[in-house]
Order: sequence, then structure tokens, then C-alpha cells
Amino acid sequence: MTIESAAIIGGGLSGLAAGLHLAREGVQVDVFEARDDVGGCCSTANVGGYTFNEGAMFLAVPQLLDSVYARLGLDRAALLPLKRIEVPQASVLDSGTRVVLGPDRSLRIEGADEAARTLAANAELARFLDRWRPVLRVFADDLLTRPMSLTHVLASAWRYLPQLRGTLAQELTRAFDDVDVRAAMSAAALYTGIAPERTPIFQIVGIVSMFEDGVHLPERGMGAIADGLAQALRDAGGRIHLGTTVERIELQGGRARALRIAGQEERAFDAVVSTVGGMNTFERLLDPGQVPTAMRRRARKAPLSHRALGVQLGLRNRLAPEAFCINHVPAMEQQHRMHRPLPADSAWLSYTVPSTVLPQLAPEGGSVVELYAGVDPDLPMDAWDEDTTRRAADEAIARLARHETLDIAQARIVTPREHARRLHLYEGALYGLSPAATPQQQFPHRTPIDGLYLAGQTTYPGFGVATSLWSGVFAGDEALGRG
Ligand SMILES: Cc1cc2nc3c(=O)[nH]c(=O)nc-3n(C[C@H](O)[C@H](O)[C@H](O)COP(=O)(O)OP(=O)(O)OC[C@H]3O[C@@H](n4cnc5c(N)ncnc54)[C@H](O)[C@@H]3O)c2cc1C
Repeated sequence: MTIESAAIIGGGLSGLAAGLHLAREGVQVDVFEARDDVGGCCSTANVGGYTFNEGAMFLAVPQLLDSVYARLGLDRAALLPLKRIEVPQASVLDSGTRVVLGPDRSLRIEGADEAARTLAANAELARFLDRWRPVLRVFADDLLTRPMSLTHVLASAWRYLPQLRGTLAQELTRAFDDVDVRAAMSAAALYTGIAPERTPIFQIVGIVSMFEDGVHLPERGMGAIADGLAQALRDAGGRIHLGTTVERIELQGGRARALRIAGQEERAFDAVVSTVGGMNTFERLLDPGQVPTAMRRRARKAPLSHRALGVQLGLRNRLAPEAFCINHVPAMEQQHRMHRPLPADSAWLSYTVPSTVLPQLAPEGGSVVELYAGVDPDLPMDAWDEDTTRRAADEAIARLARHETLDIAQARIVTPREHARRLHLYEGALYGLSPAATPQQQFPHRTPIDGLYLAGQTTYPGFGVATSLWSGVFAGDEALGRG
């Protein structure tokens, strides 16, 4: 069926990408976004003159961003100038040894026997990058820019499949003799919220890309991505309705036909693209009696990603760490402990200082520092009351204060409950599905319900800035009958 109108639920990156793709094909697009701003988990908020990220903090695998912008008919370099982060990561081990990753394809060890260890580790790094560079290219230039197809994976990547078996920890142990280097490399994947021993090896692509292509920030901050896409969508005739919550997807004759929107008349559409996650869509936006069994089962069994406590500080003083992201970490084998609450005396944490790259994120002479602290995954969402929040935030801030001087002007604390309430993240899970989810656990872009399509981080190719945009394109293609 040719569609003339489409509703997009959610004005995050995947919704904007799906909307722009469809609008460029002549479809009348209406994007409904519950919040008062676009961008969802990739947007910014100004709090007392300090710019905090609502979620995403940096851009990895820049080619993937370039290719999706090109696919959307946009000139990425003109619309979204990027600034490369020269030194992305520095890790401080319990022994006091520092391992600095970058600039470019190098690393540096500071501590006992540093010259010889740095030399040996750089030789290992060169071999590691030679081994993984072709895999990065096949992911970034091919696999992640197409909908998941086993036939295509086998045809394009068959020669790498044996290499892609195992875990991040196994590969880092194989590649690096120095345990401190292993710890620093696995710390670069702490954001996944998964122990390195359980992290699927393909997550290594992000680490390889950090050395090969660098990590970047938009010159105007992370919020510039959604702002530019929203403008392009409006220019293409799309409409964006902010502060508008979709309550129900209505089916007629088994086909998604209309939306029930808070405080409005029901609105009819030829197609609906939901970007609020497979679990939210099938558990909360559809009449339970109309959810196909396979989708209900997938939603109920979905392996959720971790929750965390966001602590964002606006400082009056200038922090000038040597890297964008600083990790105080134990050995790789102990890093799983960072995803759970730590004993009060522990000094482990990982934080970013975006104002080192973009000083304009803070008032003159000040800084922005952001960290996500591990929380007890078994703590119910409702347990995040004022007391629990204050105690957890105080502990995280005290830990940070052991490493940095903090003259705090603004503090914003984002609990799992806030992640669920304000960012609409299912059960407060940061990425929806766990980064360890298999493609079979992700939700399809074309659902078993006619006229209902899914995009966003619970669909292939998963969470991340560029990958969410690609998922929007894939859902748009399905809605256009070109999947
Ligand atoms: C804390 C955190 C840190 C991250 N760090 C990085 C990073 O550094 N680099 C990176 O590449 N990626 C990162 N990510 C992942 C990345 O931000 C996301 O994968 C991506 O932004 C998801 O986009 P989306 O469109 O799928 O979903 P979302 O951004 O969640 O968009 C969905 C939108 O739907 C809206 N919505 C929900 N329900 C309704 C409803 N009923 N009606 C109307 N609107 C509704 C929501 O308000 C939201 O705006 C991070 C994510 C988080 C949470």
C-alpha cells in the first residue's frame, strides 16, 4: 500500500530520521514528542548557564554518521561540524599507574618501568589494530548501514566470523600482556554497563574506532544533532508536535490506523512508526488483546540494559584533565563491580569533562563534569525517593572530590526513576535492550501488525547516535514498502 501520511511517535534521533526520510519521499509526516524539546536521549539542557547532556556524550564511528546523513540527503560537514577529541581516555589504576589512550593510534603508560612498557604496549596495539581494522570497516561501511540480514552478514563478513566469537575480556587478554593496558582498554567500554567477561566481542569495534577514527563532539554540543535534523524535517514539510504524548495506537481491521493523543481528538494515519522502544510499544501503547504473541513474548523476555545514577555538575572552577574521559578503575576482572554500588571506601569511578573540549558549555572559567554511577539493579524504581537519591549522589560526589577540586555551582541528579519519567526510558534502562542482546532479541522494523513500524534503540542496529539514525531510515524504508 502506498502511504500518504505517517505518524512518528517520539522526536528522538530515530524519529527525526524516520520522519525526514518519509517526508523527503512526499509523505505527510507528523512527529509526536512528549517532551518540550526534540532529541530525547541525545539532547542538552541548560541549567543555570551550564549545558548538560540528557544522555549521549560523544560521537563514535564518524563514518556511520556521514553515511546516514548522506542517505538522508544532508551534508554532515556543513550541517554538523565536529571537533575531534584529541585524548579520549585516561585510566588510573589502583597501583597509581596511568594509561592514556590516544592521541591517534597510540597509548602511553605512566608508572613503574614506563618507557619499556609503553614501547611494548604500542607494538601490541599496532597488531591489535591491524587485526581489527578490517572488521571495523566491514561494520561501519557495510553491515551497520543495512537492515540485518543473515545472508548478507555471511556474504560480507564470513572471513571474520571466527574472530567475532568470544568476549571483550578474552580478546583483550589475548592481545595485551600488560594487565594495566587491559584494564584501560576495557574501561573504554564501561558505558555498556556489562562486565568485560560478558561483553560480546563485537563491542570492540567501538574501541578500535576510537583509535582509528577518533571520537568527536559537535562544535555546538550534542543537542545540535537533533536541532539540525528537526529543521531539515520542517523544511521538508514535516510537522513536529512538542509536549504531545501518544497514549494508544489504535488498530482497525488489524492495521495500525490511528493514534489516541492526550487531550486531543483521535488522529488517523496510513502508517505509524513507533520509536519509543519495543517494550513500551507492545506493553503500553497497544490494547493487550491485540498484541501478537511473538511480540508480547519478546517484550516480556527482553534483556534490559543497566540503570545508573546520572550526576552532572556545573563548576565555578576550571577542570583541565588530560583526557575527555577519566577512569579510576580496578583490574579488568574487577570492573564488573563498578556496575553495582561500591563500598563507601572505594575510589572507582568514570567521568567526562565535556567543557575541556567545548569551554562554551560552562560560564567563563567554569566546567561541566558528568558521571554515571552504578546502582543496585534490584532496587525498585520507587525506592529512589529524596533520601536514597541524596545519599547516592553525595557518595558519588565525594568520590569525585577525591580526584578533582569541585566548586559546585549547579548539580543535577538523574535517578533511574527520572530516566523513566523524564526521558521515557523503559524501567529506567539506559539503552532499552542490553548491549549484549542478540539481533533475535531486537525488535523488527516491520512488525506483525500491518502499518506499524519500529525504529530506535531496541531495533537493529541498536543504541548509539548514528545507529539510531540508521534504524529510523530502515523503518522508513519498510513503511515505504522498500524493506
Ligand atoms: C545516559 C546515556 C548516555 C549515552 N551515551 C551515548 C554516547 O555517548 N554516544 C552514543 O552514540 N550514544 C549514547 N547513548 C545512546 C543514544 O543516546 C541513544 O541510543 C539514542 O539517542 C536513542 O535515540 P532514539 O530515538 O532511539 O530514542 P530516544 O532518544 O529515547 O527518543 C524517543 C523519544 O520518544 C519520546 N516518547 C516516549 N514515549 C512517548 C509517547 N508516548 N508519546 C510521545 N513521545 C514519546 C521520548 O520523550 C523521546 O524523546 C546514550 C544514552 C543514554 C541514555
